[in-house]
Amino acid sequence: MKTLGRAKYVELLNCDYDSCFDGCHTLVYLHIDNLKHYNRLFGVQAGDRVLHRTIRWASGKAFGSRVSRYAGDGLVFVVPTDEVDALSTQINASLPTFGEANGLRAHLGAAACVRPMSVDDAMQQALFACGSIGDAQDAYLCKFEGDVKLRFDRRTYIVDHIDDAIERGEIQAWAQPIVRVLTGRICEVEILARWESEKYGFLYPDEFIPVLEQHELIHKLDLEVIRLACAQWAEARALGTNVPFGINLSRLDFELCDIYAAVCARMERYGVPVNQLHVEVTESSAVHDRIITEGVRRFREAGFQVYMDDFGSGYSSLGQMAGMRFDVIKFDKGMVDDVTTNERARAVLADSISMVKRLGLQTLCEGVETIEQFNFLRAVGCEKVQGYYFGRPAPHETTLRELSARACRPEETVYSAYLDAVGQVNLLEGTSASLHGVEAAAFLGRSPVALLELADDRLRMLTCNHAFQFLVTRMGFESFDSLVRTSTPTGGRINASAVNAAKNARDTGDAQVFDFIAGGVFCSVTVEFVARMEGREAFIYTVTSVENSPQVTEHTLLDGVLETSNLCFFWKDTERRFLGANRRFYDYYGFSGLEDILGKTDEEMGWHTNEEPYHDDEVHVLQGAVISRAPGICIRQGEQRNIIATKRPLYSHGAIVGLVGYFEDVGPHQ
Ligand code: C2E
Ligand code: MG
Ligand code: MG
Repeated sequence: MKTLGRAKYVELLNCDYDSCFDGCHTLVYLHIDNLKHYNRLFGVQAGDRVLHRTIRWASGKAFGSRVSRYAGDGLVFVVPTDEVDALSTQINASLPTFGEANGLRAHLGAAACVRPMSVDDAMQQALFACGSIGDAQDAYLCKFEGDVKLRFDRRTYIVDHIDDAIERGEIQAWAQPIVRVLTGRICEVEILARWESEKYGFLYPDEFIPVLEQHELIHKLDLEVIRLACAQWAEARALGTNVPFGINLSRLDFELCDIYAAVCARMERYGVPVNQLHVEVTESSAVHDRIITEGVRRFREAGFQVYMDDFGSGYSSLGQMAGMRFDVIKFDKGMVDDVTTNERARAVLADSISMVKRLGLQTLCEGVETIEQFNFLRAVGCEKVQGYYFGRPAPHETTLRELSARACRPEETVYSAYLDAVGQVNLLEGTSASLHGVEAAAFLGRSPVALLELADDRLRMLTCNHAFQFLVTRMGFESFDSLVRTSTPTGGRINASAVNAAKNARDTGDAQVFDFIAGGVFCSVTVEFVARMEGREAFIYTVTSVENSPQVTEHTLLDGVLETSNLCFFWKDTERRFLGANRRFYDYYGFSGLEDILGKTDEEMGWHTNEEPYHDDEVHVLQGAVISRAPGICIRQGEQRNIIATKRPLYSHGAIVGLVGYFEDVGPHQ
């Protein structure tokens, strides 16, 4: 059974227009869901057979027995309207099933053929109705009517009216504040598009952006929003209330126009300098896309900051982070939502922020709605936040008016570079990629860390991590301020050392170290210079206390014990061959080191008077027994000695992989 190409089908249907578009016929678009999966499981030929059977079935029903292939793997045909309802039941009953959830399903979209609509319109409507079925398990047929029709009409309106909307000034550029965590002040705004439409009232980007992208019209909107944003910035500057702003670019902007040149032209027209505008590109389009990578590079080379929007919303993997070249990572609201209720969400976000900082990028969290979320983000060192808790998107003037009403001055641009450098400090890791380089930053351990500011010879804490807070509390102080209170002798001494170390770090550019004891805790503090601004200097203080030395690990501890013990330790593989021993063991027998024993058994060493019991003991140990303080005799440099030995199996992942033992010399054998 042959199908017709789309053009031929439309031509034939146009010839039959009067009898087909008589109000009693319906155009059906049929799509077999899961066919690709079916092909993979059973082979392309099996899939073809299903398709051919469906085509044969459809042409039996179709007006003029004509069926067309459309939009890849869809079928289009016309049937009498009163037969439409039965279609989906019939075809779905005849499709092979292969497991409940993965069965083949036919989805049908139906559009009534009514004059004066064109054949093409009917096809669009049937296709749209079919697409509206989505993943619903029990819906197979969708008619182009009611809600579906309303949604289609709105889409059509958007596509048909974008040019008018721009011309008539219906497009607006709203602004939502972005706040710097360290200061609590607004440091910039994000510009978000709104459309006040004549027919449908207020439209939100979630509705019109996907439609404009689908129809490759998005650049028209974006260029207008950028123009409006630049104009608003210029107006605000005249009043002295301007703040830097961010614009959202679609992936398609990079294809549909020379977006870089277009942005620059609008900035020039309104006198916006490059440090006042940043560009946001969503994560979904940013990864592995040469056009975007190239576009982002061009903006960055010209001095623009580029933000990766919606990070963590599902498109990129952690593995791709290494190759990303952005200035700021904007974590998606989805990563922030659960941080106050879900420990795992907290762990994921905290470590993601830490990792992004290690790469030398800034972090910004979107969708912050509560003070609890904000407190968490501050504790893990997120630098900027945006969300309803600080302000909803609003017309640009409203956002600025609210700013001044709340007596909440925006950040002055001269501070921004200083605060950006300060924000780069990674509180979780106790380091800053911009100071140490990405590689070093990746390997430093977690210690108590505080970020302090020196102004007029006084130290003030800007922020610290939990470990630092905990240490101060354990030393018996309420806060950092009470630890360095100059009215007490200890506090005065610590304060003086801390200030001195800071000045030396600043003057020499090298890290400085000072020690002190407070509340019975010994602390060694490393001070590093971070950044300076008129009258203010910032430093990282990283503390190693005796309780939290990151250098003392199980490994170093074990090495120390083996090195200093008076017991002779040794360890062997499952064939009872020596793998190693401690220094005392070598000295005891007069060996120079490992090379004298490696791979040998006791018998090969020839140092027991009677081999049997030792051999049997060790075989037992290798089967799981523990031999504790067993007396025995050994030959040490020609002399017989009494020893007491203990041995136990060594396990790895539940299996015995060898044994470890030690013995003590208890004197010469009589
Ligand atoms: P986006 O860039 O991630 O912008 C943030 C979105 O989250 C905005 O939605 C904002 O209103 C919303 N939002 C911010 N804080 C909160 C919060 O605390 N809670 C909740 N529930 N939502 C919050 P909006 O304005 O509807 O924009 C949606 C998306 O549309 C934007 O996501 C952006 O990707 C896109 N968009 C907006 N304007 C433009 C534009 O001019 N051009 C392009 N290409 N895309 C735009
Ligand atoms: Mg955005
Ligand atoms: Mg976003």
